[in-house]
Amino acid sequence: MIRPIVKYGDEILHRPAERVDAMTPELRVLIDDMIDTMYAAPGVGLAAPQVGVALRIFVVDISVGRRSDDLLVFVNPEFVEREGMQLEEEGCLSVPGFHATVPRAQRVVVKGQDRTGGEVIVEGIGLLARALQHELDHLDGHLFLDRLRGVQRDIIVRKIRKLRRSARW
Ligand SMILES: [Zn+2]
Repeated sequence: MIRPIVKYGDEILHRPAERVDAMTPELRVLIDDMIDTMYAAPGVGLAAPQVGVALRIFVVDISVGRRSDDLLVFVNPEFVEREGMQLEEEGCLSVPGFHATVPRAQRVVVKGQDRTGGEVIVEGIGLLARALQHELDHLDGHLFLDRLRGVQRDIIVRKIRKLRRSARW
């Protein structure tokens, strides 16, 4: 089932999400819904706070459904390694219409659980590394805008405020 995606300004996006203690049938439904929502958007990743659930879960698929091996589900993820630097343009389903160049590590290793509670460790380079960092940021209450320089961020935030005032956000 596709769930509505909350946007910049919703408080759930701006605070840390909580750890998942145990996998439940409800959480499996949530994960399936997050995958449906990510593909429908379409996007390369989606974190639980983006569908209004403050839990440390995200899904990523840099092929957007073209290669089934690329679908990753992470519960309670954390970085094991982070190295190098890349600068690429980035957007977010919760900040529609805006893009900016964001500095990220070039390579990361992320460890967490999958939807069955089993341990997963994934190495990401380039786009996958970027997607993993973007989604993990969501679980800590950070959006890509928070990674921008003050002026660059202020310009986008001002435009969003304007849209909100005219109820177009
Ligand atoms: Zn995002």
